[in-house]
Amino acid sequence: MLYLDANASEVPRPAALAAARAALEVIGNPSSIHAAGRAARRLREAAREAIAARFGVAPSEVVLTSGGTEANALALHWLGRGRRLLAGATEHAAVRSHPHLPIPVLPDGQLDLEALAAMLREGPPALVAAMAANNETGVLHPLAEIAALCRQHGALLHVDAVQAAGRVEIPPLWDSLAISGHKLGGPLGAGALLLRPGLDLAPLIAGGGQERGRRGGTEPLPAIAGLGAAWPEPGEARRLAALRDAIEAGLPEGVRVAGAGAPRLANTSCLILPGVSAERQLLILDQLGVCVSAGAACSSGKLARSHVLEAMGLGEEAGCAIRISLPWNAPADTAERFLAAYALMLQRLRRR
Ligand code: PLP
Repeated sequence: MLYLDANASEVPRPAALAAARAALEVIGNPSSIHAAGRAARRLREAAREAIAARFGVAPSEVVLTSGGTEANALALHWLGRGRRLLAGATEHAAVRSHPHLPIPVLPDGQLDLEALAAMLREGPPALVAAMAANNETGVLHPLAEIAALCRQHGALLHVDAVQAAGRVEIPPLWDSLAISGHKLGGPLGAGALLLRPGLDLAPLIAGGGQERGRRGGTEPLPAIAGLGAAWPEPGEARRLAALRDAIEAGLPEGVRVAGAGAPRLANTSCLILPGVSAERQLLILDQLGVCVSAGAACSSGKLARSHVLEAMGLGEEAGCAIRISLPWNAPADTAERFLAAYALMLQRLRRR
């Protein structure tokens, strides 16, 4: 099997697995006062400190959640009170499902800064949601420019960094930032919302006062410990970019790469094969042992046209794109193996 779906869920990293396994052996609830509880608490706080250090915030500004969806929801719900939510047209459903005004993107997938400036000038204070990197195309938004516009117009900036965290530098200009453990190579079930000092939240899930009263519920220690230990190695992006470039250089004529002209994540390539539905491509590649996605990972196995590609101005072709997202441990012969499978897929399509 060739697993090329890291943006749906990254391959667990050995350090994260070791930390999660060790945490499974720890007895006790991190909220308990006794020695066992204190040991569990130390583990949770070590993970929190590791996360905080990576993003240059104080540990007290890290709210542990169940993943990226909850971290986004927490920020949008509370920081959005009394503000208009302006969200990029290519945001993930975890952001788009909150009532918002869409900020258009340019044909290359980057946020349209002129449109954002006009929207900010138009009305009352806003909360702007801009993803650092798009999950389908890997396209990076110009966060420094977006943050400058937000500051100029008194808007708050929430950054969905679920795909970008650890993979690219994220300028520390946000008010809140969402990350997810399983996209970093940690276990499923933990994520975090990072806050600029001075911003506060009430819980979406009220309960036992965990997370300084900002998120109720006993924390999933193994997933949190794994998140604390999950982080890309230096040089990883360079290696993946070379594999991605080799794939793109070897594509047959007629196949296009969405967002090719914009800065992108090193591991992501969104391939458009006009006239062939993403579903057909996926099924054949799956039979050939290659795991890829169609646009966003489809929650119930159903496929729709990609809203990301539609926002970039594509019509029918928005239903004809597959996403390759290389995991951290992609084998050295990934490009050869993928291109061979892709050629076989084209042969099968021609026969039908
Ligand atoms: N934001 C982006 C950009 C994503 O790609 C995803 C998942 O694919 C999410 C948010 C949701 O994260 P989680 O799966 O941790 O809930």
